[in-house]
Amino acid sequence: MSPIVRQSGKTFGFHVPVVIIGAGAAGLVAALAAQEAGAEVLVLERDPVPRGSTALSAGLIPAAGTRWQTEAGIADSAAQFAADIMAKAHGEPDATLVARIAAEAGPAVEWLADTHGLPFSVISDFSYPGHSARRMHGLPSRSGEELVDALRGAAEARGIEILCDARVTQLHADENDRLLGVTLERPDGSTEEVALCQLVLACNGYGGNADLVRAHIPTLADALYFGHTGNQGDALLWGEALGAATRHLSGHQGHGSVAYPAGILITWATITEGGVQVNAEGRRFSNEMHGYSEQAAEVLRQPNRMAWTIFDTRIAGIARQFEDFRQAEAIGAIVTADTPQALAARTGLPADALISTLSDVERLKLDGATDTFGRAFRADQQLSAPFHAVRVTGALFHTQGGLVVDEHARVLRPDGTSLPNLYASGGAACGVSGSQASGYLSGNGLLTAVVLGRLAGSAAGAAVA
Ligand SMILES: Cc1cc2nc3c(=O)[nH]c(=O)nc-3n(C[C@H](O)[C@H](O)[C@H](O)COP(=O)(O)OP(=O)(O)OC[C@H]3O[C@@H](n4cnc5c(N)ncnc54)[C@H](O)[C@@H]3O)c2cc1C
Repeated sequence: MSPIVRQSGKTFGFHVPVVIIGAGAAGLVAALAAQEAGAEVLVLERDPVPRGSTALSAGLIPAAGTRWQTEAGIADSAAQFAADIMAKAHGEPDATLVARIAAEAGPAVEWLADTHGLPFSVISDFSYPGHSARRMHGLPSRSGEELVDALRGAAEARGIEILCDARVTQLHADENDRLLGVTLERPDGSTEEVALCQLVLACNGYGGNADLVRAHIPTLADALYFGHTGNQGDALLWGEALGAATRHLSGHQGHGSVAYPAGILITWATITEGGVQVNAEGRRFSNEMHGYSEQAAEVLRQPNRMAWTIFDTRIAGIARQFEDFRQAEAIGAIVTADTPQALAARTGLPADALISTLSDVERLKLDGATDTFGRAFRADQQLSAPFHAVRVTGALFHTQGGLVVDEHARVLRPDGTSLPNLYASGGAACGVSGSQASGYLSGNGLLTAVVLGRLAGSAAGAAVA
C-alpha cells in the first residue's frame, strides 16, 4: 500500500480542521495547544487506550528556570540548559532549534500545571548525567502512565475528541504536498477517511519496526525494544514519501539498566549516587557516568549481554520515589546482602572479583580519584551495608532521528522550505540528541514531545482559527 495517496480535488465525508496522529505526550499536548488557539481538533490513536512510550517512561520532563526550581533554590537558565543539550549531543543538533526548545520547556511545564492542573515537582535529591542543574520535573508517582493519563484527562475535560482503535494507514495529499486527509483503519478492518486543514504527526519514531532499526541502528538490531511496539515508523515513512528532510536517523536512546528478566526500568540514580555496574566476572567495564543511553551497548557487549547494578540502602531510598523501582523490589528483582561476600553468593558472581572491585571503588571514592575508565568518584558517595544488586540488560528505548522541523515544528524539505500544512513533534521529529546514543541527554524524549507538541499544536491551531 502506498503511504501517500495523490489525489487533488478528492471529497471526504468528514472534515476536522486539525488532525493529530498519536495520543502520547506529543499528540495530547499538541491537541491542548491547538484547541487553545481556537481550533477544532481530532486525535487519532491506534490503541484502545492512549498509552504510547509515554506511559512506559518515568514521565520526567527537563525544564529550566521553573518556579519549582526557584522554590528549591536551584539556579538554572534556558541558555545553560541549551548548552548542556548541545554538549551532550557533540554539537550536532540545530542550535537555533535547541535554543527555542530549551527556552520553551519551562513555560510549557508551568502551562501544563497552571492551565491543565498537572501537579509537577522538581527532582531535587539527585542529578542526571550531563545536566548542570537539577531540572527534571515529574508528577507524584514519577511514572509516565500518570503523565499520559493526566494529559488525556485534561484533553477530555476540554471536550477534545480522541478517537481510539483508529490506526492511520495512508495520508492524502495534492500535487503540492498539501495534506488533504487521512485514511484510518478500525480493528475489524473497516476504513474511514477524514479531511483536514492541518496535520500533526505525533506517532513517535521507528523503535518498534525491526527492519528500520536494523537499517539505521545496527548496534541494537538484536536488543530488547523497551518502547511502545505500535511505533512502527509511520511518520518517517510518510514524511520520506512526501519528500521531507530527515536527519540523525541513527540517533536513539538506549538504557543500560533494565532489570532482567523482570523487564523493569531501574533508575540511573542507582549509578549517579555512587553505584557501579559489574559484568558476570564481577568486574567493572565502563565509565557508567557517561550516561544510561550509551551504557546499553556497553552492557550488551558483556558476557550473556548482562550486567549487575550494585548500590546500597541509601541509594535504594532515593530510587524508591520511582514506581518502577518499587515494583522491582516487590517482585524480588532487587537482591540484598549484608556483605560483598554474601552479595556474591546471592548473585552468583565470583566472590574474589566482586570484593576486589567494590573495595577498589570505595578506595577511589575515599581518595576522590578518577578510575581508568575516566569516572570521577566522590568521597560522600561511599556504599555501606546492606548492599543491593539487580541483574540488568541493555535495551533500545526510542529513536531520536526523524523528520526535520523548524522552530514552529513545521516539517521541512531538504531545501529548507516547509511543507504546506504538516507538523511533527516528539519521536516523529528529529530530536536534539544528534546521531549517536551518547548524544541523548536525559529527558530529551519528553522534552521534544511536550515542547514541539505545544509548538506544533499552537501553529496548526492558529493556521485554521
Ligand atoms: C522505558 C522508557 C522510559 C523513558 N523515560 C523517559 C523519561 O523519564 N523522560 C523522557 O524525557 N523520556 C523518556 N522516555 C522517552 C519518552 O517516553 C518518549 O520520548 C516520549 O514518550 C515520546 O512521546 P511521543 O508522544 O512522541 O510518542 P508515544 O508516547 O509513543 O506516542 C505515540 C502514539 O502514536 C500512536 N501511533 C503510532 N502510529 C500510529 C498510527 N499509524 N495511527 C495512529 N496512532 C499511531 C501510538 O500507538 C502511540 O500511542 C522513556 C522511554 C521508555 C521506553
